[in-house]
Amino acid sequence: MQRLYFHPAALLMILVITTWSHAADQPPNIVFIFTDDHCEQALSAYDPSRITTPNLDRIANEGMRFDRCYVTNSICGPSRAVIQTGKYSHLNGFIRNGNRFNGDQQTFPKLLQANGYQTAVVGKWHLASTPQGYDYYDVLKGQGPYYNPPMITAGEDGQPITRKHTGYTTEIITDKLLNWMTEKREPNKPFMVMYQHKAPHRNWMPAPKYLNWLDDVTLPEPETMYDDYSGRTQAAGRQTMTMRQHLNPRDLKLQGHGTMTPEQIKVWDAAYGPKNEAFKKAEPNMSEKELLQWKYQRYAKDYLRCVKSVDDGVGQVLDYLDSAGLTDNTIVIYSSDQGWYLGEHGWFDKRWMYEESLKTPLLVRWPGHIKAGSTNDDIVSNLDFAETFLDVAGVEIPSDMQGESLVPLLEGHTPDDWRTSFYYQYYENPGGHNVARHYGVTNGQHKLIHFYALEGKKIDDWELFDLNQDPNELRSVFNDPAYAQVQQHMKSELNRLRELYAVAPDDDPGTAKRKPLRKQKLK
Ligand code: CA
Repeated sequence: MQRLYFHPAALLMILVITTWSHAADQPPNIVFIFTDDHCEQALSAYDPSRITTPNLDRIANEGMRFDRCYVTNSICGPSRAVIQTGKYSHLNGFIRNGNRFNGDQQTFPKLLQANGYQTAVVGKWHLASTPQGYDYYDVLKGQGPYYNPPMITAGEDGQPITRKHTGYTTEIITDKLLNWMTEKREPNKPFMVMYQHKAPHRNWMPAPKYLNWLDDVTLPEPETMYDDYSGRTQAAGRQTMTMRQHLNPRDLKLQGHGTMTPEQIKVWDAAYGPKNEAFKKAEPNMSEKELLQWKYQRYAKDYLRCVKSVDDGVGQVLDYLDSAGLTDNTIVIYSSDQGWYLGEHGWFDKRWMYEESLKTPLLVRWPGHIKAGSTNDDIVSNLDFAETFLDVAGVEIPSDMQGESLVPLLEGHTPDDWRTSFYYQYYENPGGHNVARHYGVTNGQHKLIHFYALEGKKIDDWELFDLNQDPNELRSVFNDPAYAQVQQHMKSELNRLRELYAVAPDDDPGTAKRKPLRKQKLK
């Protein structure tokens, strides 16, 4: 019997050709990297003044940076629901934190799954109901702590089970993502994976290795840190998210260890103990301004330390894609559920239609489609993500989704009829940080906001900003005669968009009260 003989070089060539043709035939893989509360001010591809994020910057350098990605409702759960559905909060039903996402409705992972994609979500979920449309899920229970998180996955019978973990949550989520990629991924199928961090959400607990990182640095203060809110309506002054008054001792690491083990506490106390001793000695002689400055440095550094671990994880994932030969046929998207105040206006938190929380980072790498190092200034949104993922996969976009595919923009061709104005609405009042319910419209040059409910009562306050003259939004020009025409134009644009997106004419201040879901579940 004659044995077939292939020269090693020929064998290699056959291998290369089959791999190449296989990859070329297969729809692109999708890696969606998502964080919670990460702002552009803490991502060096946008703003290098406070931190360097080399791995996130790699996505921008090898892909596209979007400079005007707006969220429809600047708060955690609702942003996630918008991404699942491609629909505004009032249509997907998840309008504020504490709601429960109706997973029976149409979502993009379900559509990808039905079209041959393997789908997975790892890390923060925060939609209360069990994930649907995923072949695999392993998600934090609720918000999830920074240390030793319980996580929910499907047991052998397919029912959700909770498993305990020991370690730092950001690192655990990265390990799980890499484990899914190496152990559970089906090489013959395209995949879509959502890699979602809790970080850098409040209360900003850094990893053991970064507890002392930045200790020797003094961070620059934002221009608007000493804002007195005098140029706007009552809402800006009535919030409860100031660094001055509303950061608590746990936020500032003056007390508490959360869910840490005794070993972790030892490491933690070795780092914060001496810093806190020094603060307690200095505090009696500090002026009010000096105390605010100290709070800003403490808070912002802990936030940046949490971002650092996210950046490390992103680097590990990008390296894995390289080593597995997946980079060329994989679109990598980086975004956060909304922007954030890293001391601007004296604040922490989000929620407002003001720029820092309206904008969210968006970086996309897609070899062969996106010109490396490009930027885009069009108005895009988390409302567009679901449509984009479907388009990338070659799946038809359902007509009831309300956003648009970003694929033409990624390929450098913005359609002539691309949106030039954007509708926003926030509902969570009464609620955390007491930000009034508001809706509004912006075109990037001007912004009109209507505050309509505060502390359970209807209000009727309007603000108009000229973003070219007043980029920090310190002085509303509503009813200023010089802006009469602009005001009229923005009002009619607001009405047009409310009609286009089927927004109910009236949102009663009593309709969106937090449902006691957790209590109900315990009965
Ligand atoms: Ca968030």
